[in-house]
Amino acid sequence: MARLCIFCGNEGQLSKEHIWPEWMHEYLPLIGDGKYKTGSETFKWRDLVNTKSNTRPGHLTTKKVRVVCKRCNNGWMSALESEVKHVIVRILQRQAFRIVAPDQKILSQWITLKTIVGEHAEPDLYVTPKEDRRQFYESRIVPDFFAIYIGSHSSKSDSAWLRISSTLALSVSGPLPPLVEEKRNTQSVSFICGPLFVFVLAIREAGINPPEFMSLKKVVRIFPSHSAEIDWPPENILTERDMGQIAYALDELTSMDNVKYLGDLP
Ligand SMILES: [Zn+2]
Repeated sequence: MARLCIFCGNEGQLSKEHIWPEWMHEYLPLIGDGKYKTGSETFKWRDLVNTKSNTRPGHLTTKKVRVVCKRCNNGWMSALESEVKHVIVRILQRQAFRIVAPDQKILSQWITLKTIVGEHAEPDLYVTPKEDRRQFYESRIVPDFFAIYIGSHSSKSDSAWLRISSTLALSVSGPLPPLVEEKRNTQSVSFICGPLFVFVLAIREAGINPPEFMSLKKVVRIFPSHSAEIDWPPENILTERDMGQIAYALDELTSMDNVKYLGDLP
């Protein structure tokens, strides 16, 4: 069966999409060695029953994923890239400026696009359901279970990607997490793009609302919107260690007392 476009669902020819668009390459010189990492975990009760991780060298600028159709790629996705460009370029050029609400919104949409395309690089372990992808395609609605944070970092690395996906439930006695076609209901995506650090936490389990229980230091939340204006860069700059702690925040969540795992999870 032909693979369908993850956004519009059409069977059209899928095109290879650069995770970082080509316009960005001139602002992101290839320095250092980028890393592209993915990891996933399955728990039975508290016991880790399966874990998988994969590290590939290479800059995100060269990373391509074939999951969207040409029409989406050249249409609304390309339009979104053009709209976000003025914000990203200022960040990559290390300018000081104020990120106003409409720009935060565009930036959130762009980060959502990268997250959804990136999560489909692992075909079986995506988290965002078809309906949410469709809504994003039609109206650029960021799924309501996403929380998006941004920060500025001092690491030498200008390109990195880490995705961790997991399956979790809030109750010991059931029901099972509301999985439909998906095997995972939780993911975190952390990436570095020039001086920008992005953290996305997406948990499809009612009752776990990331902004409620997590206070992540040195990053600002842009979705759900937290403040109308953000002074960029933020006063507190993230170190390599800070980013590591945030990128693995999901581990902290899964060790909390009120988060449980149960049953035969996929
Ligand atoms: Zn499409």
